[in-house]
Amino acid sequence: MNSIAAYFWWIWSVITFVPRWAWSKLLKKQPTLYCANQVDEFPDSLKPLTVYLAGERGNLWAAAMLCPCGCGEKIELNLLEQVRPCWSAEQHSDRSITLMPSVWRQKGCKSHFFVRHGQIDWC
Ligand SMILES: [Zn+2]
Repeated sequence: MNSIAAYFWWIWSVITFVPRWAWSKLLKKQPTLYCANQVDEFPDSLKPLTVYLAGERGNLWAAAMLCPCGCGEKIELNLLEQVRPCWSAEQHSDRSITLMPSVWRQKGCKSHFFVRHGQIDWC
């Protein structure tokens, strides 16, 4: 009896192998886009793949995100034109975000990247 159960289990795992493999491919293919999240104040712990925008609509003063290299450092960017250096944050209809100019960390991991339409372009 046990061998029959093992046989059916084997058949089952063969039948379900293709969909499971396709599903894992599909999950990996999903784009990992940085999305904008507008807040009054930056939270203490930032979520990955999120660019926090502080301020009111049309009047944003700062952006914050976790460093995309995985070092866990928080990056804060000034969005006020009167203060240098200054970045601009553009939100797109799919909630993804573009930051201009590039982000270049002077300390720590020294990451240098663009955020374009929610995707990290390393320099
Ligand atoms: Zn980093």
